[in-house]
Amino acid sequence: MKYNRILVRYGEISTKGRNRKKFTSKLRENIIEALKDFPTISVSASRDRLHILLGDENAEAVIPRLEKIFGIQSFSPVVKVERNLEEICEAGLSLVQKSFQEGKTFKVSARRADKHFPYDTNELNYEVGSFILKNVEGLTVDVKNPDIKLNVEVRKEGVYLSSEIYPGSTGMPVGTSGKAMLMLSGGIDSPVAGYLTMKRGVEVEAVHFHSPPFTSERAKQKVIDLSKKLSAFSGKVNLHIVPFTKIQQTIHDQVPENYTMTSTRRMMLLIADAIRQKHEGLALVTGESLGQVASQTLESMLAINDVTNTPVLRPLIAMDKLEIIDIAQKIDTHDISILPYEDCCTIFTPPAPKTRPKKEKVQYYESFVDFESLIKEAVEETEIITIDGATSSQLDESFDDLL
Ligand code: ATP
Ligand code: MG
Repeated sequence: MKYNRILVRYGEISTKGRNRKKFTSKLRENIIEALKDFPTISVSASRDRLHILLGDENAEAVIPRLEKIFGIQSFSPVVKVERNLEEICEAGLSLVQKSFQEGKTFKVSARRADKHFPYDTNELNYEVGSFILKNVEGLTVDVKNPDIKLNVEVRKEGVYLSSEIYPGSTGMPVGTSGKAMLMLSGGIDSPVAGYLTMKRGVEVEAVHFHSPPFTSERAKQKVIDLSKKLSAFSGKVNLHIVPFTKIQQTIHDQVPENYTMTSTRRMMLLIADAIRQKHEGLALVTGESLGQVASQTLESMLAINDVTNTPVLRPLIAMDKLEIIDIAQKIDTHDISILPYEDCCTIFTPPAPKTRPKKEKVQYYESFVDFESLIKEAVEETEIITIDGATSSQLDESFDDLL
């Protein structure tokens, strides 16, 4: 017996009133995008549900992809059979057998959307239930708290059976809340910040500052790999790699040592903001968490944030490191983030950066340099790499096969 469709229940979106249609059609689009390398699959959305018709594909291949799509409350693989009691009983039996272990309890829960079907719900529960009981040794019925709940839904066009419910990622479909630029380092925090931003429906593009030869190709590859992990949640990530060497060296030569870190962060924010404007984003995102390091005091944020009025989203601001690591492990970015390759900031970090910088001072130090044209040049020379979620997760899968 093979599942022929997956029933998807909407999350938060079903409460969003007038915007509902926009949310459901975006979710449908995102699902199609995530499954685009399965040519026989089709997706249809109704007011309160969405159906993925599996065609020739197996549910097992589709489930891990669906688990990463925001806007899904839960989903269930479903078998569709003809309106025929014998077929219903056989399909029900094989579904229960799939998840049966010694000592488990079950219950049949029938619903009749079409009242012309000759058996009513009580009769269906009884007929299907007793057939399964007869055929599975050690199975008992528990109507209040069953381990396995077999849902049987009778409709005009056929009968749908399901027994498993997978939790979805919840949140909102990516792309329903506009676009933001994520400042993505190779560290643990910023990928988590990107993930949480995507979860609120925001499309994320990544901006990374790269300082060759002080930072290596491997450091750049690390950020590409992190973007691949993030793209599994959003379908696609554009990664902007900014050549940052010239600016970092200029800061190093022109700004007093204890202010280099503050100035570096200001330049990063300015460049990310220019890239945001060029690509029509609405906000910037960082992985900052209050008090974690010198640049993440409130005084420091005030001096750094001084360069722009654009909203800077900081989803991790109140989180502890352990909470952040927990999410990083869940989204599978942690092990990439802890690889030891050098970051452009660590290399130029002075031994004693100011934890309470004054913005007037940093403005004064910067006033001796023509940063504007350096910034313009960096933006113009930024390389854009597009990372496709569906094909990169496919790569992961085939890589797993090799192990
Ligand atoms: P992360 O774990 O994200 O690297 P962190 O704890 O190391 O963060 P910082 O080094 O102070 O903290 O960086 C703060 C934020 O600045 C990062 O979360 C990221 O958003 C941004 N950032 C730092 N370095 C870079 C970089 N090379 N390219 C792009 N963004 C960066
Ligand atoms: Mg870092």
